[in-house]
Amino acid sequence: MRCPYCGSLDDKVLESRTMANGESIRRRRECVSCGFRFTSYERIEEKPFMVVKRDGRRQPYDRTKLEKGIERALEKRPVSYDTKENILNDIEDQAIMKGRTNREISTAELGEIVLERLYETDKVAYIRFASVYKHFEDLDEFIKEARKIKKEKTAESSKSEKSESKK
Ligand SMILES: [Zn+2]
Repeated sequence: MRCPYCGSLDDKVLESRTMANGESIRRRRECVSCGFRFTSYERIEEKPFMVVKRDGRRQPYDRTKLEKGIERALEKRPVSYDTKENILNDIEDQAIMKGRTNREISTAELGEIVLERLYETDKVAYIRFASVYKHFEDLDEFIKEARKIKKEKTAESSKSEKSESKK
């Protein structure tokens, strides 16, 4: 698989793990050229794992979305890439275990799992996630809101830079 860091196609598998009912296999890989570690998945396409929103709508579980939410919470926190990956994998495992009967999980249940895991790891990240997430329908909104906050901050800092250069 192509290394997401340096683009080399030469990698080795460090660990393979079968998840849930054997419907998915996760492989931890390491790029032979640059040593970057990443994760790949093999799964059956037909039966996607679903996330049920509060209004009852369902959407396929999206690891990238979960990852973004967790990244936001952990931004600038002293947590390594590997730790972040582990957190993400743990949350995913728990979510799939919890929803294994119907192959779906509610956003509220998923949020609780994230909160629990962040609480164990980093209290600041936990508070960030809790204070924002609790008010939102789902991760989409959390990410949107976090982006907005970041934009506002950037706008403010560029404003203050300008006023300083005038002096
Ligand atoms: Zn590489």
